[in-house]
Amino acid sequence: MKRTHNPNKSKVHRSYTVEEVALRFGVHKRTVRNWIKKGLSVCDDKRPLLILGSDLRQFLKQQRQEYKRTCKPCELYCFKCREPRLPDQNTLEFIEETSTKGRVIAACSVCNSRLNKYFSLKNITSIQRDLAVILPLQHKHIG
Ligand SMILES: [Zn+2]
Repeated sequence: MKRTHNPNKSKVHRSYTVEEVALRFGVHKRTVRNWIKKGLSVCDDKRPLLILGSDLRQFLKQQRQEYKRTCKPCELYCFKCREPRLPDQNTLEFIEETSTKGRVIAACSVCNSRLNKYFSLKNITSIQRDLAVILPLQHKHIG
């Protein structure tokens, strides 16, 4: 699952190479390159790439907010819209994954891409109520 990192670990008056960021935050270098793709600014195109501590901090703060911008109970997070979205009621499905865990899948009511939400089966009643649906829990058939 997605993890968030403490933005304050990034010192504002420093700059870091990709390797240093990876080391500092205990992530893979590939993760840092992903951050760059997702909008983390680098100083210039020269190698090694340098990332300003202040930029890094700002970026991680944003990431964290995005992650924290948790959905209302009736919403699922859409990775395409990058917003919590209401699911299309006609597409809602509850799937029992294990004896304790389930998953809601539905289509995003805005962009139609697939939404996913994991939940603990003991919360199924409130989840179903929140999503305003009364659907029988469907068992996942394997094979
Ligand atoms: Zn969407």
